[in-house]
Amino acid sequence: MVNPQKEDTLQSIERLQQVQKELAAAAERAHRNPADVTLVAISKKHPARAVQTLAAHGHLDFGENYVQEVLDKQDTLADPAIRWHFVGGLQSNKAKFVAGRFHLVHSVDSEKLARMLQKSMTKKREAAEVAPDAVQDVLLQVNLDCEAQKSGTSADQAEAVARAIGEMDALRLRGLMLMPRFDEDPEQTRPSFAALRRLRDELQDKLGVELPHLSMGMSNDFVQAVEEGATLVRVGTRIFGPREY
Ligand SMILES: *Cc1c(COP(=O)(O)O)cnc(C)c1O
Repeated sequence: MVNPQKEDTLQSIERLQQVQKELAAAAERAHRNPADVTLVAISKKHPARAVQTLAAHGHLDFGENYVQEVLDKQDTLADPAIRWHFVGGLQSNKAKFVAGRFHLVHSVDSEKLARMLQKSMTKKREAAEVAPDAVQDVLLQVNLDCEAQKSGTSADQAEAVARAIGEMDALRLRGLMLMPRFDEDPEQTRPSFAALRRLRDELQDKLGVELPHLSMGMSNDFVQAVEEGATLVRVGTRIFGPREY
C-alpha cells in the first residue's frame, strides 16, 4: 500500500530539485551566478509538515501570504533556521502581526502600510519584543499593469514611496517586487520583468541607495524572471503541487 504522505514528501523534494536545476540553467544563460537567486518556496495552503519536509532537507526560504496561516506555522514549527517571507496583500491594521517576524516583507505597496510597519517596529523595540536596533527588511511592490484593483504602488509613485521608506529608521528598503497579470505564455510577462529592473536601476540612481533585490517570477514564469534579473523567485505550485481552497 502506498503511504500518501510519503509520496507527497518525495515529490516535493524532487520537484524542488527540478526547479533549482531550471533556475540555475536560466541564471547561467543570463551570465549570472545561480547563487545570487533565492528560491522562495510558497507554502500557503499547504500544511506545516510540508514546510518541515523541505526544511529538513536543507531548504530554508519559505513564503506565505495569509497572516494567520503563517503565524500558526511559525509557532508550530518554531524553527529559527527558517527564513519566512511575507508576500501577500497586507492591510495596515494587520501590520503589527507581521513587523519584526519576517526575514523579508515583499508586499509593501503604500506609504501608509510602511508607516504602520514602522510604528509597530518602534513599539516592539520599546517593549523589548525585538532588539532595540531591529530593522524590518522590505520590498516595495509595484504595479506596472495600472490595474486599479491590483495592489502595488504605481511606477509614478514609486520614487515618493521609496523616499518615504528611506526616512523610516526601523525599515530598510531592499528592492522591488512584482505581481504581474497572469499570462499562460510566460514570454508575455518578460517585458514587465525587464521594466521592473529598469525602474529599480532608476530608483537606485535617484535615491543613491542600493536596492539589490528584485522579487519576480512564479511557477509559470520564474525562468524568464531569472533571465531578466530576479534575485528572489516565488514558486508554489511547481514545488508543492496544486493548492486546495
Ligand atoms: C501564491 C503566490 C505565489 C506562488 O504562485 P505559484 O503560481 O503557485 O507559484 C507567488 N507570489 C505570490 C505573491 C503569491 O501569492
